[in-house]
Amino acid sequence: MNNKVAVRRCGEYDTGKLVGIISEIYKTCNGQDLKNKRVLVKPNILSDNDPEKCISTHPAVIEALVIFLKDQGASVVIGDSPAVHSRGFLPVRSGITDVCERTGSQWIDFSRKSSYINLKSGRIRIASVVNEVDLVISVPKFKNHELVYFTGAIKNTLGLVPGFSKAKQHALHQNRESFSGFLVDLSEAVTPDFFIMDGITGMEGRGPGQGTPVSTGVVIGSSNPLALDIIASTIAGYNPGELPLNRIALSRGKWLKAESEIVYDGPELKTVIKKDFKRIQISGNSNISIKFIKNRLGFLRKLDKRPVFIPSNCTGCRECIKICPQNAISMDHLNPDHVLLTDNKCIRCYCCSEVCKYNAVIIKRKPFGV
Ligand code: SF4
Ligand code: SF4
Repeated sequence: MNNKVAVRRCGEYDTGKLVGIISEIYKTCNGQDLKNKRVLVKPNILSDNDPEKCISTHPAVIEALVIFLKDQGASVVIGDSPAVHSRGFLPVRSGITDVCERTGSQWIDFSRKSSYINLKSGRIRIASVVNEVDLVISVPKFKNHELVYFTGAIKNTLGLVPGFSKAKQHALHQNRESFSGFLVDLSEAVTPDFFIMDGITGMEGRGPGQGTPVSTGVVIGSSNPLALDIIASTIAGYNPGELPLNRIALSRGKWLKAESEIVYDGPELKTVIKKDFKRIQISGNSNISIKFIKNRLGFLRKLDKRPVFIPSNCTGCRECIKICPQNAISMDHLNPDHVLLTDNKCIRCYCCSEVCKYNAVIIKRKPFGV
């Protein structure tokens, strides 16, 4: 496994400049030969939203990557499965459909053809295109994530799972540790060949769907997902060893056995760290004795952060209802534009907050009421 991670400063979404930066990163990190290869480019499209909202990988990064790949003699297809994935989904607002048209790259709808792979926790469907291309290049976004704190290379692999199968995993892995373990299992089973992270504008605060865009000024690349995630989360100001995805992946030893094995190439790391990046507070959820007490004493569960619905922002679009793996949300029949939470069904996966486009679901500690 190549342990090199390259970081380059970049303050704007200028496609021309990005082609040069991506080319330099790919070569620095000894990316594979691309001549005559068929490549799947996999952005992070949580939902189809304007690029300025910073919810998805910026189209300029995708376009620059495709131009670079084609210059190297590769042919390219682009695809992802958003959180709520209806057949025929096209990422129009996020600008990726335009990139497909401008670069002559086919958009692949992952829900049309998929096949099963076996993980420790059972079978899971993966978009078949993964097995039909020579290389997969994953393009994660630099963002906070309420459940796993920070979303990067390892987390972005989840988008290879089409449709509702993704949300179903939350029902199977009902806490942060278990879900993180599943994400590492999945990423180990299907590891993309290279990763380019869009860290030009990142999302601080209530990521991955409702945080605040903030200039983070970097593009990060590696063929090693864990090495990339450790460097990216360090730049976001986290202690990377505290994040469950990094910790679990390190303990497996597949990509790295210790952080010290990372070969870093870029500006002095402390000069790119965003000290004032608004991070998600790390909870003591991984402490076994606290977890035991919480499980035994139902009322302490109420101290966990949970979804709180803001009726004045809710449009009644039902996206949260569609994604909830526990059927914990329903329409309020007395008020058709509002939804209701059945709190005792909720497993705190925060998918509802991820998909709500209207800031109508916030994640907070609210011990009483709904
Ligand atoms: S809470 Fe958000 S996602 Fe759910 S129905 Fe209201 S606006 Fe739609
Ligand atoms: S209500 Fe929201 S946080 Fe609770 S289980 Fe459903 S999607 Fe997850």
